[in-house]
Amino acid sequence: MRFLIILGAMLMSSAAQAKAEWKLVVHGGAGTIEKAHITPEREAAIRAALDKALAAGSDILGAGGSALDAVEASVKILEDDPNFNAGRGSVFTYNGHIELDASIMDGRTRAAGAVTGVTRTKNPIGLARAVMEKSEHVFLSREGADEFSRQQGLAQVERDYFETPERRRQLDEFKSKKVSALDIEYKFGTVGAVALDSSGHVAAATSTGGMTGKRWGRIGDSPIIGAGTYADDRGCAVSGTGWGEYFIRVGVAHEICARMRLDGTAPQQAADEVMAEVKSLGGDGGVIVTNDDALHAKMRLLRNHGLRTRDEATVFGFRELIRAGAADVIQPSVTKVGGLLELKKIATLAAAANVTLVPHSFYFGPGLAATLHAIASRNGFMRERSCSMLK
Ligand code: ASP
Repeated sequence: MRFLIILGAMLMSSAAQAKAEWKLVVHGGAGTIEKAHITPEREAAIRAALDKALAAGSDILGAGGSALDAVEASVKILEDDPNFNAGRGSVFTYNGHIELDASIMDGRTRAAGAVTGVTRTKNPIGLARAVMEKSEHVFLSREGADEFSRQQGLAQVERDYFETPERRRQLDEFKSKKVSALDIEYKFGTVGAVALDSSGHVAAATSTGGMTGKRWGRIGDSPIIGAGTYADDRGCAVSGTGWGEYFIRVGVAHEICARMRLDGTAPQQAADEVMAEVKSLGGDGGVIVTNDDALHAKMRLLRNHGLRTRDEATVFGFRELIRAGAADVIQPSVTKVGGLLELKKIATLAAAANVTLVPHSFYFGPGLAATLHAIASRNGFMRERSCSMLK
């Protein structure tokens, strides 16, 4: 039996509450599980843990919390559960140790944090987040990552906290059979989560012990930003699981996001196409993907019409265009955006996103354009280049 354990939750907006849509998907790894190795009780325990993880993240999103907080909370629950190959219950290295990998990414800012080969941190996903938020770096490894974790005051545990008899048995079997270190049967149970929050931001998180019998400091895809994890509001959020060596070579998570962002490819199609590449090289695995459907549809329409600037802005909405990074220059008019105040807000957004704002002089003549220009310059809203375009 081969399956990817994925549970998802989705809440659509209700007019009464006027709440925006949010989405959360969690996974408990992909791999081959022989029926003989999984009892109905074990399967029920795995599904119950996934439900619990889903509930923890859903509580955060339902209360208007961030996608980033939600994916971290969900993954922590699965790290604490010995049924998964992440945190407690992780697989053993060839030398009988446990070396943990994790990564997290915020689609709002594309900030990211990752760790590999950590040995004492109870929740590696929390350490990945600390790397993202409390260090100047993105990726820390081994002793250095352990040291940073202690300095940050994160919960530390003895090495044997992570160990389970089942994983020890798998290592013994692995060694006695002398099977390939890449045999997929021995790498089940990586965990991950992707979410879209009610503010339209996405995030992704992945955590794993890697592969049974891994040697020589081997690093899989899970802690590699762009391979096992990626999040970009303009595209999507992805968490992968499977044969890490192939995920790295294909750059799976980033490739899916890039296809969605640049070509307007739908999530399912992007995932299918990229996983087909993994297969064509000889790899295997699965991904979970989430995105902002409304934004994606708008971007797609834009692309289909070959529109990138100006006029389409009035049709598709300046805010969306700026947020989507779909326009380099926008030319809003006071009437179209509903007043000067609104125009000033849009100008602030545009300045933050490095989008050039050109007040629309066509409708109002140079007089008003000059006034707008003055307001914009006084507030630091406008870049010099757009000023000269006004003349
Ligand atoms: N992708 C992980 C790795 O290669 C393993 C897994 O997802 O099961 O380390």
